[in-house]
Amino acid sequence: MTIPIPIRAAGAFAATVVASVALWSGPAEAGPQTALEAALARAPNTEPARNIILFIGDGMGVSTVTATRILAGQRAGADGASYDLAFDRMPYGGLVRTYSADGLVTDSANGASAITTGHRTINGGIGVDGGARRGVCDTSRNVPTLAQRAKRELGKAVGVVATSSLTDASPAAFYAHSPDRNWQSDADMPDAAKAAGCVDIAAQLVLAPDDLRPDIALGGGLSFFQPAEAGGRRQDGQDLAARWSGRPDSVVVTDRDAMNAAVAAGQDILGLFASVHIPQEVNRPTVAPQAPTLEEMTRAAITRLASAPEGYVLLVEAAHIDKAHHAGLLNASLTDSIEFSKAVAAAQALTDPEDTLIIVTADHSHGLTLNGGARHDDVLGLIKGPTGAPRLAGDGRPLPILVYSTGPGGPEGEEGRPLLEGVDVTATDHVRQAGVRLASAAHTGEDVPAYAQGPSAHLVTGSMDQPYLFQVMRHALRLPVEAP
Ligand SMILES: [Zn+2]
Repeated sequence: MTIPIPIRAAGAFAATVVASVALWSGPAEAGPQTALEAALARAPNTEPARNIILFIGDGMGVSTVTATRILAGQRAGADGASYDLAFDRMPYGGLVRTYSADGLVTDSANGASAITTGHRTINGGIGVDGGARRGVCDTSRNVPTLAQRAKRELGKAVGVVATSSLTDASPAAFYAHSPDRNWQSDADMPDAAKAAGCVDIAAQLVLAPDDLRPDIALGGGLSFFQPAEAGGRRQDGQDLAARWSGRPDSVVVTDRDAMNAAVAAGQDILGLFASVHIPQEVNRPTVAPQAPTLEEMTRAAITRLASAPEGYVLLVEAAHIDKAHHAGLLNASLTDSIEFSKAVAAAQALTDPEDTLIIVTADHSHGLTLNGGARHDDVLGLIKGPTGAPRLAGDGRPLPILVYSTGPGGPEGEEGRPLLEGVDVTATDHVRQAGVRLASAAHTGEDVPAYAQGPSAHLVTGSMDQPYLFQVMRHALRLPVEAP
C-alpha cells in the first residue's frame, strides 16, 4: 500500500510537497490479533461463583512477573520475552495499590489481610482492622476473613496452601486474627497478650470451631504446633497436631505420599512438611524431597475440596518469591515464581472457569529492575557490549540485566560495586547486586498486578485498592455486605 505523506519544506518560500512512503501490507503479528479477537468475543460471567481460588505470589511485583516470564521461557527453550505464564493468559486484570494503614509500603500481614478481609490494617496486623496497634491485644479489632464467612454463612469448604509455615503472615490472614504476625506459637507471645485473651496463630488454626476451621491446610510450620517436649516451640504443653488428628476423619501428614493418601480418603488434612518453611524450590529436591511442591499441594487441595457440596474457597501462597528476594537470591526467587505459575496452571486445569473464580495477585512488590540486555540473552546474566564482553557502567563495573534497588548485594564501604570477575551471577547461591546495601531487601510500594478468570473476574480491572479484591470475592460468592 502507498499513502501520500505531506512534507512541509523549510525556508522563506516553504511549500507543501507530497512524497510517497511504502508501507508494509502483509498480515499483522498473529498473537496480538488473536488476543483482540478473543477480547471481542469475551462476555462477562455474572453468575455466582461456586469456588474461589486466591493465589498470592508473595512479593511478586510487575518486574518480578516480567523476569519470571523471560526465565520460564528461556528454561523451556523458547523466546522468553513473548512467553506466557499461566496467568498471562487470564482474560481480566489491573493494578492494585498496596499501602498499609501506617505505611507507604506494606508487609505481608497487612497486604494479605486487606485482600482476605477487606480491611486495610497496620503492618504486622493479621485479620484486624485499621485501628489495631502492633503487639497490643484488643480482640474487638478482629474482622472476619472471606474464608470464615464463606464457611459459616454459606457452608463452603476452606483450604490453605503455602510454602511458608502455615502460621506465617500470608496464610494466617485466611484464618487468624492477631495484632502481631510474630505470635505464631504461645512461646512467641508476651504474657500480657495471653492474659488479655489473645491466642497464638497455630492454636487459632487447629482449635477453631468446626464452622470456621479449614478443611485442609498444607505447608510448613510443624514446630509451632508441637510442644517443646516433642521437639517443637510450644511452651504450653499442647500438641496441636494431636488435637487435629483427634477429631473424626482428620489426619496430620508430613510427606507427599501420606498427603495423597489422605486426599484419596477424603479426610480433613493438616500437612506440615517442614519444621518452619518448606525449602526454596532450588533446594527442596535435595534437602526435603519428601515435601510436596506448591503445584502438588495445590492439586491435592483442589482434589480434596472438589467434592464439597457447597463449593470451596482456597488460598495458595508462594512464600519464597519474597523470602528469596529479601536475601538477594534472584535465581531462587524466580524459580519459586515459576513454580507459582505451575500451581496456577494446575488450578486452571482442575477447575471449570464457568463456576470457579481464580484471582492471581501479590501482597506487595520488591525493588527489582530490568535494565537492558539483548532479546535472547540469559536474563540472569550481565548486559553485554557488541563484542560479547560485559558492557561497563559509569563506575567501570559490569551491569547485570536484573538488579535490586536494596538488599544484601549492595555496595559496602568505599569499594563500590564488586567487579564480578569469575563470578557465576546465574548461580542459585549468588547474591544479586543492589543499589543500596540492606541486610534484607526492602519491600517496595508501587502497585502490583492482579489477574482473574471466572465468575466476577471482569470486576478485577483498572486501578484497584487492595481491599477491593475482597469485595470482588464477596460479591462473587453473594455474601452480604458486612454490618457496619
Ligand atoms: Zn517480605
